[in-house]
Amino acid sequence: MSDYLIRGTALQGKVRAFAVITTAITEELRQRHGTSPTATAALGRTAAAGLMIGAMLKGKEKLTIQVKGGGPIGQIVVDANAVGEVRGYVDNPEVDLPLNSAGKLDVAGAVGTEGFIYMIKDLGMKEAYSGSVPIISGELAEDFTYYFAKSEQTPSAVALGVLVDTDYTVKVSGGFIIQLLPGLADAEISAIELELSRVTSITSLLETGSSLEQILRGILPSLQVLEQTEVHFRCQCSRERVEKTLLSLGKEELHEMMVEEGSAEVVCHFCNEAYQFDQEGLQRMIESL
Ligand code: ZN
Repeated sequence: MSDYLIRGTALQGKVRAFAVITTAITEELRQRHGTSPTATAALGRTAAAGLMIGAMLKGKEKLTIQVKGGGPIGQIVVDANAVGEVRGYVDNPEVDLPLNSAGKLDVAGAVGTEGFIYMIKDLGMKEAYSGSVPIISGELAEDFTYYFAKSEQTPSAVALGVLVDTDYTVKVSGGFIIQLLPGLADAEISAIELELSRVTSITSLLETGSSLEQILRGILPSLQVLEQTEVHFRCQCSRERVEKTLLSLGKEELHEMMVEEGSAEVVCHFCNEAYQFDQEGLQRMIESL
């Protein structure tokens, strides 16, 4: 089954919930960037968060998440939008760490805990919305929970998980976000907290083949699914856009490139696609300026 996301509400609209399965997307990210298991987990968790936060947006709105924790993998950058598309990269995909004391991939060690998560939302207005919170754990789910509480004043439960197989491929990947809106009674909140405390991990639920609806309904029995959408890896880069970037370097620099290197290669950070421009192509670009 392809990756998908569901959005729903519970308790007469006083709770909103999102869940996503991203196994194919995280595997594509791994293959494109050659990520180590630890980097696969860090990037996959951030991409799952990005898709769910993207599902909170509308129309052509989009967002960028930057995780800069000062750890050895460098920054994580993820772009997502309201129509279920995501792309992303980490600075140092090859960095891997030994398992942590719990026998799990050491995402916090790779991400680092000295820094910030930046959330930049392009809502189609002049100024982009941007918020940031300090990284408190580096495991990312806790950090996004903190982001929602601090930056958006919405108490939330966030679960993010990537299970990497022994051959380093992605076995399962996904997450959920449950948000408590104003008007909930204490007893309702306690009931949700109790169910949340019984969730072992999102990856073990996905591994047993539970659907996203089943997972959310286990926590929120009154769940109403409002929407189910497919989600995909998608990069917006194209030869045309890369050409524009090259043109913006100006005549002199392009000429230098043509004389010294004879050609140019531009690699997209987000998808690792390489665009080649030969001497003739560069000459044509210079003449167009
Ligand atoms: Zn690209």
